[in-house]
Amino acid sequence: MKYISTRGGIDPVSFNQAVMMGLASDGGLLLPESIPVFSTSEIAALTDLSYTELAMAIFSRFIGDDIPAPTLSALIEASYATFSHKKVVPLQKVDDIYIHELFHGPTFAFKDVALQFLGNLFEYLLLREKSKLNIIGATSGDTGSAAIHGVRGKENINIFILYPHGKVSPVQEKQMTSVLDDNVFNLAIKGNFDDGQRIVKELFADLEFKHSFHLGAVNSINWARIMAQIVYYFSAFSQLPPEARKDFTVVVPTGNFGNIFAGWMAKKMGLPIKKLLLATNANDILHRFIRSGIYQRATVTPTLSPSMDIQLASNFERYLYYLNDCNAAKLKEMMAEFTTSGEIKVSAALSAETARDFSSCRVDDQAILSTIKDTWDKTGYTLDPHSATGVRAARELQRRNSVTSSIVCLATAHPAKFPDAVKEAIGVFPAAPPEIAALAELPCRFELVEAQTTAVKNYVTEKLSER
Ligand SMILES: *Cc1c(COP(=O)(O)O)cnc(C)c1O
Repeated sequence: MKYISTRGGIDPVSFNQAVMMGLASDGGLLLPESIPVFSTSEIAALTDLSYTELAMAIFSRFIGDDIPAPTLSALIEASYATFSHKKVVPLQKVDDIYIHELFHGPTFAFKDVALQFLGNLFEYLLLREKSKLNIIGATSGDTGSAAIHGVRGKENINIFILYPHGKVSPVQEKQMTSVLDDNVFNLAIKGNFDDGQRIVKELFADLEFKHSFHLGAVNSINWARIMAQIVYYFSAFSQLPPEARKDFTVVVPTGNFGNIFAGWMAKKMGLPIKKLLLATNANDILHRFIRSGIYQRATVTPTLSPSMDIQLASNFERYLYYLNDCNAAKLKEMMAEFTTSGEIKVSAALSAETARDFSSCRVDDQAILSTIKDTWDKTGYTLDPHSATGVRAARELQRRNSVTSSIVCLATAHPAKFPDAVKEAIGVFPAAPPEIAALAELPCRFELVEAQTTAVKNYVTEKLSER
């Protein structure tokens, strides 16, 4: 399988090159040249597979013979052996809906599903190509910890994560700073998340620095992350009782359009998903697009579901490419237009097409809290604030049109990762798994750094010269 850019400015590249490139060199996003499709009988056969076998069946279609099958299989096994549940991503019936728990990985959020695999994939490709990678990223919490746990102790990779000092939750901070492997560097920036992001951008813009230090990124635009996320949609289908599979809706709490784009790919690959219900918090750029066909930038409001506090969905460009019939020239124009005007508007016909695949719902903090409480009162199940946006959206859908289909809600984080919001909703802290409870006692290591690009650059240069 070859990979192309949404903006049409690169020659097709291999899967391996697409993974190492991250963002396409023309500024676009990488996509497979064609979407592999599974027939109805092939999909029925997939339901007998374990999670890792399922991942193998799906990844092979996207990778072809770029990675030998036994190697790929070993990478997949190693990636999901770190999950604490034997089903990796178990589906739980809660009241009349299904909760798909994606948070049994090392950092208790769904980003582990992709980043555990990406870490192993990077290590394999770097060894094979005798190359090195220095990852630099800014985080507001979840991505940083999942990325660190994905690459800790791996050969030929170092990771530098910038987080705002004193502004991430204690659990998130400890999940990052308690990782003491030699290749992990935590930088607590004396500033906010935007400062961290600006510094990373400036470091990447310094092309000499970027190339001489082999800088790379791990944000959700990497194709391998989307590919890894497609698998759990198939897994949800397999775990539904056969009579519930005929007609199912998946509810996806979304910020960057990464998670839900993977679901849309699964649908195009033949999985019989009836609808994808997109749930946003108060940062509702995607909800407004589904409603009106207008994608319009806005400022970010902090909410109880901070990992979805995004008003610029970096993966959305992939969907727009397909919506515009794979017309890269048109897409390039639209993205240029968006850079100047902050707005993209699609035709009524395209908007109608979007409505065939997606519906959407915006959930504010008050509704997040009441949903955590109602679910807890009625069933004893504790939702985290991100998963609660999805469950609330599902309830709205049921109220609006009395759905008869089965509803699968993706649960993206463990409630103990966001204990304060849960306590605000139900009056008690959620039960913490032993790994989270133990965090407070663990030794930690981080460097407090001024929010200045030169300070970070000097730190990175110094550390890399020692390794
Ligand atoms: C990242 C994240 C999301 C949003 O995922 P996207 O791929 O950005 O849509 C939702 N919930 C949690 C807990 C997350 O960490």
